[in-house]
Amino acid sequence: MSQKARTRFAPSPTGFLHVGGVRTALFAWLVARQGKGQFILRIEDTDKAREIAGSEKHIQDSLRWLGLQWDEGPDKSGSFGPYRQSERLHIYKEWAETLVAAGRAYADHFTVEELNSLRTQAVQQKKPFLFRNHRPNNPPAWDGKLPLRFKSNPKSYQWQDEVMGDLSAGPESVDDFIIIKSDGYPTYNFAHVIDDYLMEVSHVIRSQEFLASVPKFLNLYEALEINQPKLATLPYVLGAEGRKKLSKRDGAKDVLSYKNQGFLPEALVSFLATLGWNDGTDQEIFSVYELVEKFKLSKVQKSGAQFDETRLKWVDGYFIRQLPIEELEKQAQDFWPPGAQGVNGQYRSSVLGLVRQRLKCFAELPELTVFFFKEPEAQKILDLYTHPQDKQLVKLKYQNQDYVKLLRAGLRELDQSSFDEEDLAHRLNNLLEKLESKPAILFPVLRIAVSGSQISPELFGTLSVLGKAEVLDRLKSAIALLEK
Ligand code: GLU
Repeated sequence: MSQKARTRFAPSPTGFLHVGGVRTALFAWLVARQGKGQFILRIEDTDKAREIAGSEKHIQDSLRWLGLQWDEGPDKSGSFGPYRQSERLHIYKEWAETLVAAGRAYADHFTVEELNSLRTQAVQQKKPFLFRNHRPNNPPAWDGKLPLRFKSNPKSYQWQDEVMGDLSAGPESVDDFIIIKSDGYPTYNFAHVIDDYLMEVSHVIRSQEFLASVPKFLNLYEALEINQPKLATLPYVLGAEGRKKLSKRDGAKDVLSYKNQGFLPEALVSFLATLGWNDGTDQEIFSVYELVEKFKLSKVQKSGAQFDETRLKWVDGYFIRQLPIEELEKQAQDFWPPGAQGVNGQYRSSVLGLVRQRLKCFAELPELTVFFFKEPEAQKILDLYTHPQDKQLVKLKYQNQDYVKLLRAGLRELDQSSFDEEDLAHRLNNLLEKLESKPAILFPVLRIAVSGSQISPELFGTLSVLGKAEVLDRLKSAIALLEK
C-alpha cells in the first residue's frame, strides 16, 4: 500500500449512526492508520429535507467513543476544508460551470409530471427509462434555478474493486443524472466525486448501496478529467435473520446505545471488524493494534455479514474478563444496582470479582448483583421454589417441607463454617454425601434462599462474599417463609 493512504468517512446527518454505518468508518480508519495516512470526516449535508438536527454531533460522539479519531474534519483545521458539504457550494458550482462550458451538463427543463409520464411510457414499452434518450435539443441556459444534469457518454466499463474484485457494467448503467438540484445544492453523485478528488482521497470505502452507480461515477471522472481513487465496496451488514440489510427500521441500534448499556468500545471495535472480515485464521478477537497491523480490504468477504448481538455480548464478556480489577471497578461505576453506592468499596470489589466471569455487558450488573445489596423479596423466593427451573427440581416436585429439610441441614452445616471458600466447598460437598443429595438439587435450593434468583454467580464464592451472618439470616427467613 502506498505510504499515504487518505480515507474518508462521509456520513449524511440524517439520523443516528448504527453498527452498519460505523463499520464502514472503522474499515476506512484502519486503512488510513496502517498506511500512516489520514482519516477524514466529511459531513455530506446536501439533502436538507432529510437532515435531522443533532446527527452530526451524534456521529462525532460515536466515532470518538470508539477511538476512531479523524485527522481532518469539520471541527479540525486541515488544508482540504471546509469538511461540511453545505459550506462548499461555491466549489461545486464552479465545477458544474466547467462542465456546462464543455458541453457536458445541461439544464433540465422537464416538470415532474413530464418526467413521470416519460417513465410511464418506458414501463409500458417494457424498456428501462434512461434520461439520456430524452435530452432536449436546445436546453435553456442554466440559471441556477433549474436542476443541472450531467451529459453522460455511455459506454461499458471494467474496473477493479478492492473488495469485490473485477467488476464490469454495460452502457445501460450510465445515464444523465442530476448534479445540482433546483435548491442549489449538489447531489451526492456529484459532490462526493469532486470532494474525494480535491481532498486527495486515495481509497473510497463505502457501502454496497452505491455499487450500481459506480459506472456513472466513472463516466463523470472522465468528463472532469480527474483520476479515479481506489474503490472498495463493503457488503451489507445483514439483520439477525440474515436475509435483509440491517437498517434502522429493522431495529439496528444506535452506536451510542451500546455505550449506554456499558459495552466496552474495544469490544465493539473487535466485533465490528470481524463482521465480514477475518485474517485468514480462526482468530475471533482482535485488539485495535492487531487490527491496524492485520486488516486487509482484500480479505473482506464479498457477501453480507450477519449481525448477531449474542456474539457481540460474547466478545464484550471476553474484554470484560481481561480488564484489571481497578479498570473493571471504574467501568462498573455507573451500573451498580440501587443500594450498592453506600456500601464499602472492598465488598463491591469482591462482588465484581465474583460476577466478572458471567458479565457480558455492564448493563447486566444490577440483575446479577442486586441480592448482594438487598435481601431478596419473599414472594420471589416462594415463586422460585414453587416453579423451579432446574431440571432435577422440576422432576422431584418438592413440597415446602422437603425444601425446609434441606435448608435446615444447610443451616446446621454452614453454622459451623468459617465461610472461607474452601471450607464452604468442603462442608457442602460432605453434606451432599450425608444427605445423599446432588449438587443439582441441594445447591439451587440454597441459592434461591440467599439470592432470590436462579442465575447467581458460583455458589461458594457467593456465600463467602455475602458473609456468614447474612447467609444464616437469609436461610432462616426462607425456612420461616416456607413453614408459614
Ligand atoms: N453520504 C453517503 C452516506 O451517508 C456516503 C457514501 C460514501 O461514503 O461515499 O451514505
